[in-house]
Amino acid sequence: MAVSIVRDRRFQQHDPGAHHPESPSRLRAIDEALASSSMKLVELAPVEATDEEILGAHSAELLARLESTRGHVVSLDPDTRTSANSYDIARCAAGSTVEIVRAVAEKRAPPGLAMVRPPGHHATRERAMGFCLINNVAVAATTLLREGLAERVAIYDFDVHHGNGTEAIFYGDPNVLYLSTHQWPFYPGTGEKHRTGSGAGEGANLNVPLPAGTGDEVLLEVSRSVLGPRIRNFSPDMILLSAGFDAFERDPLGGFAVTVEGFASLARFWREMAESTCEGRIAGVLEGGYDLDGLGRSVRAVLEAWA
Ligand SMILES: [Zn+2]
Repeated sequence: MAVSIVRDRRFQQHDPGAHHPESPSRLRAIDEALASSSMKLVELAPVEATDEEILGAHSAELLARLESTRGHVVSLDPDTRTSANSYDIARCAAGSTVEIVRAVAEKRAPPGLAMVRPPGHHATRERAMGFCLINNVAVAATTLLREGLAERVAIYDFDVHHGNGTEAIFYGDPNVLYLSTHQWPFYPGTGEKHRTGSGAGEGANLNVPLPAGTGDEVLLEVSRSVLGPRIRNFSPDMILLSAGFDAFERDPLGGFAVTVEGFASLARFWREMAESTCEGRIAGVLEGGYDLDGLGRSVRAVLEAWA
C-alpha cells in the first residue's frame, strides 16, 4: 500500500533563530531519509488554512496577533520567535494538516503524515508558545467535526512533551478524546493524571505521565492496556496523531528512550487500532523531534510500517 505525505520547501522558511532546535534542517533530514526508501508516497499539495478553519481552534485575537508578526521578527514567548514569513507558513502548516486529514477521512488518500513546521500542540486557543504558532492537529480535528466528516475524533499525542494546547482546546469537548503519553515532570508542566476533562468533556482527556527513561516496551504496553481500550470505548470516526519524535532515545530535548523500531511498532499498533475502530482512518502531523538522524529514520520507519 501507499502512504500519504504533505511536504514542501516553504516549511523550511520558518526560521525561529540561529541554533534553535526547531530548525529548518529537521525537514531536510526527513527528506533525506525518505529519499532512501522505495515505498510508494502519495504527495498531497500544501494549502493555506482558511480563517474559518483556524478560528475553529483559536481566538480571533490570537489570529490577529500572529498576522501582526508578518514581515517581522517577533518573540511570542522565550522559545517562540517568528521570522518574516512565519505567519503565512504556519497557516500553510495548519491547512496542509487539514488537507491530509480530510483526504484520509474521505478515503481519497491512504493514511499518512503531514511533514510541516512550525509544530502546533503547545498552542492554546489564545496563545502561541513552545515553538508552536497554530495548533495544527486541533485545527484539523475541529474542521472534521464542523464539516460533518466525523462526529468523534481521537487524538493520540506521543510527543515527549504534553500537548497542553490541544488538551486545553478540547478540555470540555465530549467529541474529541485527547490521549497523551509524556515525560513527567517536564515542560510545559501540564499533563497530570487527574486532568480528565470538564463538564460534558469529563472523561475525554487521558494523560499518562511517565518518568524519564521510558522506552518502547512501556509505551506499547500503555497503548495496549490503557489507551487502546479507551479508544475502542470512545468509538472514534478518525484517529489523529500528534507525532512527536522527541521521544527518541537520543533526542537532545527529551528524556525518553524510544527507538526507531519502537516508533514503527507504535505506528503498527495505531494503524491496527484505526482498522478495528474507524475503517483505517488515521493521519498524523509532525510535532517535535530534534535529533536529526533519529527524526529522519523514525519518520521513515513509521511511514514504512503503514506502507
Ligand atoms: Zn516535544
